[in-house]
Amino acid sequence: MTETTRRDEIAAGLAGVEARIAEACRAAGRAREELTLVAVTKTYPASDVRHLAALGVRDVGENRDQEAAPKAGDCADLGLVWHFIGQLQTNKARSVVRYADVVHSVDRLRLVSALGAEAVRAGREITCLVQVALDDDPARGGARPQDVPAVADAVAAAEGLRLGGVMAVAPLGEEPARAFAKLRRIAQAVQDAHPGARIVSAGMSGDLGEAVANGATHLRIGTALLGHRKPFVR
Ligand SMILES: *Cc1c(COP(=O)(O)O)cnc(C)c1O
Repeated sequence: MTETTRRDEIAAGLAGVEARIAEACRAAGRAREELTLVAVTKTYPASDVRHLAALGVRDVGENRDQEAAPKAGDCADLGLVWHFIGQLQTNKARSVVRYADVVHSVDRLRLVSALGAEAVRAGREITCLVQVALDDDPARGGARPQDVPAVADAVAAAEGLRLGGVMAVAPLGEEPARAFAKLRRIAQAVQDAHPGARIVSAGMSGDLGEAVANGATHLRIGTALLGHRKPFVR
């Protein structure tokens, strides 16, 4: 496919997503300005990130350090905000703090310590969201709701880190609206303890409307912008 065609395809995806966001905002009585669209570019090349940037997208999300680090390096001239949204091993913290501005997947105290130490060492301040597990499947990551306050307090206290708020993925087989309503209550409790922690990262291609209705501030959208990803081969 030529680059012009790919640009047009992404422009059409973006227009479709913006129309859905506009409709969700209208239904919820919210303003578009309350929402940040994070374009999830995992599995797609740096050239797609350039197309998105040319179309006015400022925030991009990635979930694997091995892929994200070189892509962020290739795109460093664009001045984008990089969001790390995938499960993160502590041994990847050093790499991730070099390019990520926001880490959405902070779910345990050991990871808070690792990110804080590496952020200080890199001379950066990283915004961290506490990922909340809305189901009982530990494989998908996230802190259990009862553990969220301790993780949030640790982020808030860590040098090099700023507590931005919370993030969640709607569990498979549960009504996204129910899951996001639960997240909203947890987000409010975190914000009561830490007034600056206003971010609620919720909503993907399939459930962005439910997320907007339940107070999301950040939508993480991949497929609806860029198309269906090829199955990941290790
Ligand atoms: C891949 C991914 C997304 C984007 O999902 P789509 O359904 O493609 O919009 C959002 N959040 C996380 C954590 C992801 O891994």
